[in-house]
Amino acid sequence: MSAPRDRNGRHPRVLVLGGGFAGIGAAHKLKTSDVDIVVVDKHDYHTFQPLLYQVATGLLEQPAVGHPIRDLVHRQANARVHQDAVTAIDLDAREVHFSELEPLTYDYLVFGLGAEVNFFGVAGAPEHAFPLYTLADAVRLKDHVLKTWEAADRRPALIDDGALNIVVVGGGATGIETAGALAELYHGVFTKDYPDVTPEQARITLVEAGPELFPMFKPDIRAYTEKALAKRSVEVMTGEVVEAITPQRVTLKSGTELKAHTLVWGAGLQGNQLVQSLGLELERGNRIGVDEELRIPSHPEVYAVGDVAAITDQKTDQVLPQLGSVALQSGEHAGETIARQVAGKETKPFKYRDKGTMATIGRGSAVVQMLGGRTMKGKAASLAWGTVHLALLPTNEDRAKAVVAWAGAGLTHQREARITVET
Ligand SMILES: Cc1cc2nc3c(=O)[nH]c(=O)nc-3n(C[C@H](O)[C@H](O)[C@H](O)COP(=O)(O)OP(=O)(O)OC[C@H]3O[C@@H](n4cnc5c(N)ncnc54)[C@H](O)[C@@H]3O)c2cc1C
Repeated sequence: MSAPRDRNGRHPRVLVLGGGFAGIGAAHKLKTSDVDIVVVDKHDYHTFQPLLYQVATGLLEQPAVGHPIRDLVHRQANARVHQDAVTAIDLDAREVHFSELEPLTYDYLVFGLGAEVNFFGVAGAPEHAFPLYTLADAVRLKDHVLKTWEAADRRPALIDDGALNIVVVGGGATGIETAGALAELYHGVFTKDYPDVTPEQARITLVEAGPELFPMFKPDIRAYTEKALAKRSVEVMTGEVVEAITPQRVTLKSGTELKAHTLVWGAGLQGNQLVQSLGLELERGNRIGVDEELRIPSHPEVYAVGDVAAITDQKTDQVLPQLGSVALQSGEHAGETIARQVAGKETKPFKYRDKGTMATIGRGSAVVQMLGGRTMKGKAASLAWGTVHLALLPTNEDRAKAVVAWAGAGLTHQREARITVET
């Protein structure tokens, strides 16, 4: 049955906000549906966040993790893409406002605007910290590190001031993956690039406020992670809270001052700030509460998906973590549900297929915890991590690029993308 058109002969409009895993997943599932899809994102590319740290450390080049959004809907005659920033959403009027586009109304809205960094009010963090949530963040961090080493090479006095030290904040996946990758860049590449710098002059310290790293993982994984970081000379400080940041120093609540000209922030996320203007009661971390079909209960034509949504797992009754697979599956479910509604079919509740929680610490060193509690560590976990993340990449071309870069780095330690390009 074909969907009814309105008085102007128009199909129902599905407005997809955000071209991340969730938004693109929704658009793809509407490919054969009688709807007009409009995808709006402030960037003209889809960002593959899980590999941002590999861009930041020169392992991957930008196009390996940023894919043109238009390309992702090339084969969808019912989809159009606009690059613009969403500025306001009027749920009652079913209307979205943008920086430049004329306002757009919708029949269905897919809200997939993701999350953004939360500095928890730490003094100096917004100005001086390096978060790692966007492609621009990753390039900024890479350029800063490369420029700092070159500056220290020209003026060795900078080294005594801690210029080459890096503090990474956050003992979750982002912090640990970044600290591990930076350590491999330092010890695998910079030792050859800058042979006069000793390891003691370029330290990487991981600071975590809680009593241990990876609190979501089982003890064997935590123990493995500590060893893997120690092997890479990453110094770990747990139970320490960052209080203030300046361009050259990091002050901890305990009073300790760390000399470091780079602080990477991997300590917290919150839902996109636009959620605060919706007039909804929000869940923890500024996320939108949804029903079992991923709709906002007070506005059932609006689906909140991905990082911006607090989705309760039917199996465990827990709110699902902000992960790529949750975002992709929830976006796809929203797309499927809208397609079924438009076709006059019954809809089904969202069921998450857990692929395990995983993180990589460095070459051949990763950890995986499956839903039933089974754990994997080391090379086997690295393989599982690679398989799951390759599957999440949007196209085969992206997968091929990542495999070539990983194979090259695995064999040679080489980081071809460690150049800075002035624009
Ligand atoms: C450093 C890092 C490492 C990660 N590692 C892993 C991992 O190993 N495995 C894993 O499964 N997950 C990982 N994640 C989490 C995963 O990347 C996210 O859960 C996922 O990207 C969420 O998808 P999303 O579509 O909800 O949001 P996003 O991917 O953030 O997409 C949101 C989109 O909305 C757009 N947008 C935002 N605001 C506006 C606006 N005002 N106007 C227009 N457009 C806007 C953005 O440009 C973006 O394209 C990681 C995340 C980070 C940051």
